[in-house]
Amino acid sequence: MNSSKEPQAPDFLPQLTGCFAQPVRENPTVAMVEAAYRHHQLHFRYINCEVSPDNLQTAVAGAKAMGWVGFNCSLPHKVAVIEHLDGLGASAQLIGAVNTVVRRESQWIGENTDGKGFLQSLLEVIDPQDKKVTLFGAGGAARAISVELALAGVSEIIIVNRNRDRASKVVDLLNENPNCTARYHSWRETYAISPATDILINATSVGLFPHVSQQLNLNFKTIKANMVVADAIPNPPMTHLIRTARDRGCTTIDGLQMLVNQGVIGIKYWTGVDVDPAVMHKELRRVLSIEDLS
Ligand code: NDP
Repeated sequence: MNSSKEPQAPDFLPQLTGCFAQPVRENPTVAMVEAAYRHHQLHFRYINCEVSPDNLQTAVAGAKAMGWVGFNCSLPHKVAVIEHLDGLGASAQLIGAVNTVVRRESQWIGENTDGKGFLQSLLEVIDPQDKKVTLFGAGGAARAISVELALAGVSEIIIVNRNRDRASKVVDLLNENPNCTARYHSWRETYAISPATDILINATSVGLFPHVSQQLNLNFKTIKANMVVADAIPNPPMTHLIRTARDRGCTTIDGLQMLVNQGVIGIKYWTGVDVDPAVMHKELRRVLSIEDLS
């Protein structure tokens, strides 16, 4: 008998992925990831899980016991999760934080895709080799972005941040890379961007919903048309910085592009499939009620 004609048993056991965070209710990653799974007919699911710091260890053990293929970690677990894993990828090791956990055979490995997602967006518009960067912020996003930029060959990164101690830690880390010079600039007064800047990035939380009218303490007239201007804020993607930079003739990268690209990288880790970013972008805009102003 031809075995190919035998009926296939239905498969009611999807591969499981998700996000462990607190709070997690408003995290939209689930919508874009599940849209990609549906579009590519991947028998996978992604679930948002509200996990308190006290329950992180048990939650990770639960994911292992249930055979999950991996999960995202968001605040406040990006550093704390490391002690529950078997190893770290190169970027996560340098950044000291994990946002994506991947099961590789019997090992649970922590990766960091925040900076990789940003770099992917950047590579679509400029070659970072030997470029000069001005970066606002020194938190987790700034650290992830700047580490990937240094690895990608930028020659200089100026970290502009209110808190000097936090910024100094990032500067010291970046200066361990011999090909990249990093320095701190204080941010007590309105900042004027050096005309030598090629790439300007906001990695602070200024402008994040619901504080949509918040503006960087920046002399916006110092933004020049030849600069690539990026904002990590995913919601709303059309921040004051992005709108101003567009008006001044700059090429821009919004935080939604970065979010989608880091999701694409995470899904590749879990499924091995290169998913279509346009599907994820469209679903994010739909669930966040973002009008297409591009
Ligand atoms: P952190 O809390 O680690 O860092 C926040 C940073 O913002 C600090 O540098 C802080 O400065 C700065 N900041 C906050 N308020 C102000 C202000 N009023 N003026 C100037 N600086 C300010 O957050 P993350 O680094 O994790 O996240 C930062 C942003 O990046 C968030 O909005 C997040 O949504 C976004 N993000 C986007 C991703 C994407 O895929 N698009 C991925 C990850 C993050 P100080 O040290 O002086 O307090």
